[in-house]
Amino acid sequence: MRNPVGGHVPVAGGLATTGLGYARELGAETVQVFVANPRGWATPVGNPAQDERFRAECEAESISAWVHAPYLINFGSHTEATVEKSVESLRHSLRRGREIGAKGVVVHTGSATGGRPREVALAQVRERMLPLLDELTHEDDPYLLLESTAGQGFSLCSRTWDFGPYFDALDRHPKLGVCLDTCHIFAAGHDLAGPHGAAQTLDLLVETVGEGRLKLIHANDSKDVVGAHKDRHANIGAGHIGEEAFGELLRHPATDGVPLIIETPGGKEGHVADIELLKKLRERRG
Ligand SMILES: [Zn+2]
Repeated sequence: MRNPVGGHVPVAGGLATTGLGYARELGAETVQVFVANPRGWATPVGNPAQDERFRAECEAESISAWVHAPYLINFGSHTEATVEKSVESLRHSLRRGREIGAKGVVVHTGSATGGRPREVALAQVRERMLPLLDELTHEDDPYLLLESTAGQGFSLCSRTWDFGPYFDALDRHPKLGVCLDTCHIFAAGHDLAGPHGAAQTLDLLVETVGEGRLKLIHANDSKDVVGAHKDRHANIGAGHIGEEAFGELLRHPATDGVPLIIETPGGKEGHVADIELLKKLRERRG
């Protein structure tokens, strides 16, 4: 399938029971989960029975699985305690990712706090994140996927070209990839809705990170205008990006084979509608 379409699903009650149950109700062909409280530092152990079921059922139904690491993680922080917790939290998400058969673990690129220059923060990213990449030695280990932000504050990576220094800091490690969030990249200033805007943005991304690095797309429309630096997701076609841009995205060679995950509002009804619309746009390409 050119682009499996699915969503981020709730997992309270079990990865397989609740998570995959919800995914089936959405008609999801791919699924993203949290393996820890996204707003905390806890590193909970999994439930082996749910892990095994999740893994087996995803495989049987050809559903690719993705983990989103907690939001508090910031490898650019000037606070040592935050950096230490970031390392442990991301290591946990990567280990849990392998245990449940996930293809990738998404982490936000973070920001340079404390008034430190970007180069200092990126040197710290290298020092603390690169060892985690080097720990991914098993063949079935997940990719580590960098998700750029909407460009608030002292963001380390929000425009396509910001991935360059970040990738360089991590030696362009073979286990490194990109998760492109359409809302974030639009908020950061790339006008996906303009003439050929989506295609140009993808061209710029490939120019920066090379072919084959884009592993996942967070397909979210935006409640705010381009360049607003606001991270407020809207339902597909209901925001300032619009469904045409998603159609263009689905026609670009860089997105061939790349799954789309929605992180949109509107509860189950909204999610079902978004996934149906993206599937329709997928069929309409060509
Ligand atoms: Zn996202």
